[in-house]
Amino acid sequence: MKGVTVITHPLVQHNLTLLRDHRTGPQEFRRVLREVAALMLYEATRSFVVERVSVRTPLAQARGFQLRREVVLVPVLRAGLGMLDSILQIIPHARVGFIGLKREETTLRAVFYHKSLPPDLSQDEVILIDPMLATGGSAVGALDLLAELDARRVRLVNLVASPEGIRHLRKHYPALPIFTAAIDERLNEKGYILPGLGDAGDRLFGV
Ligand code: URA
Repeated sequence: MKGVTVITHPLVQHNLTLLRDHRTGPQEFRRVLREVAALMLYEATRSFVVERVSVRTPLAQARGFQLRREVVLVPVLRAGLGMLDSILQIIPHARVGFIGLKREETTLRAVFYHKSLPPDLSQDEVILIDPMLATGGSAVGALDLLAELDARRVRLVNLVASPEGIRHLRKHYPALPIFTAAIDERLNEKGYILPGLGDAGDRLFGV
């Protein structure tokens, strides 16, 4: 699918399988999700623009690179929190915004209950972190919010996507780069991804 990168690295796939396994408890789930997020980040940031710089080593001058733009991480609550920490370890200078969305049980519509974001995202690289792309409603809601703040370079880091979710996202944001570990079969009647891994937030926090 255009613009969708499925990260097939063996360590990512090994960890995704642990996350899918119903026997994996919250403590292990948290650990493995952190690990997989870090692994996925390398692929998701491969196209970050760098500029040339020069530094002095203890011995001589060396040419090097630095990121051109500031990075803003935006986890979608709750499950996005599970991927935040390890990404912050790798990009410790990143700023962090939060978007809280929940699905209305009957309509499956995404409803905001929290947002705190930097006021202007026009110059930044924004990484939206939403582990489960199910109907796509939350992701589109979050992206609309980022667009209101003039975000121009957004990429989505996701763990498991449904074909329905990707199609919905593509309708609204055709050029959005999506990085995922799996595109699963379909949604069930409650909007859960099959086979998926269940409710990522519940499994993460042991609810
Ligand atoms: N959110 C989840 O956590 N899991 C799904 O399968 C769908 C949405």
